[in-house]
Amino acid sequence: MNQFQYVRATKPQAAIEAVAKDPNARFIAGGTNLVDLMKRGVMTPQKLVDINRLDLRKIERQNNALRIGALALNSTVADDRQVRERHPLLALALNAGASPQLRNMATVGGNMLQRTRCPYFYDTALPCNKRQPGSGCGALEGINRMHAIFGFSDKCIAVHPSDMSVALVALDATVQVSGPKGNRSIPFADFHRLPGDTPEKDTNLEPGELITAVDIPDGPFTKHVHYQKVRERASYAFALLSVAAALDIDNGTIKAARLAMGGVAHKPWRLTAAEQALIGKPATEAIFRQAATVAMQGAKAFKHNEYKLRLGPNIIVQALKTAAAA
Ligand code: SF4
Repeated sequence: MNQFQYVRATKPQAAIEAVAKDPNARFIAGGTNLVDLMKRGVMTPQKLVDINRLDLRKIERQNNALRIGALALNSTVADDRQVRERHPLLALALNAGASPQLRNMATVGGNMLQRTRCPYFYDTALPCNKRQPGSGCGALEGINRMHAIFGFSDKCIAVHPSDMSVALVALDATVQVSGPKGNRSIPFADFHRLPGDTPEKDTNLEPGELITAVDIPDGPFTKHVHYQKVRERASYAFALLSVAAALDIDNGTIKAARLAMGGVAHKPWRLTAAEQALIGKPATEAIFRQAATVAMQGAKAFKHNEYKLRLGPNIIVQALKTAAAA
């Protein structure tokens, strides 16, 4: 492992300044992804700024939204009474991620910033445009079973690994950040990026910007929700595919719908056209299947992930059926 400097910040501004003025500095909180990446030589920061002592762990109501501090632990959020009552979809997605031990360490901010699990990214002997821009994409012509079917580019076909983020994009969350130029809010759908020509950039954060909280607006999705995750073992595995589904149903008719997929793109993938196809319709399997067909339009497979084109619509239907019956 490379030598690095370690400092502790007790004020957000001090943490922001320390990272903003040093391009080789990184924030560290739970460290559940960053430390692995450092051990493998995938990321080699020369300074770590520990933000665990910042006052960013609260979960509280603010302006018709639930504000979740960026340092709130995944396990704390999943168990929080307000989250379970107002946003049960988030609790389901959090509990589908990682393992109990990891959820006890990982923070909300870190969960959003975790990096792809593309095996070429983790192996420093292989080409990867995300790890080393310009070196090529090993997965494009290599083993691409886990990779994207939406929004990829010829530079990168990786997928974003977070389950929590799939629920947050479905729930219209907003990310609060502080940086050298002040505070700003980023709609969750705009927080992560598609790879384009710059796959090394996962998010739209500016240098030195610190995530301080995530706001989830109040909504009607307190009952008919489901997070469906398909993975290769029952626990501690990333999604091959996942679906976050939330319905507002009145007398059998869908008044509002939210739908997003994980394991399909470089960012959590909101399915707005499919949502529109559900509104005003009866909550039946036939309607769910029509919406799933809409959702999968434009999907394109690579050599080893063609199964996602068949699995995707079935998982969407299953998630919607389970949500409707909840
Ligand atoms: Fe790297 Fe992206 Fe290609 Fe994977 S898919 S090898 S992360 S460039």
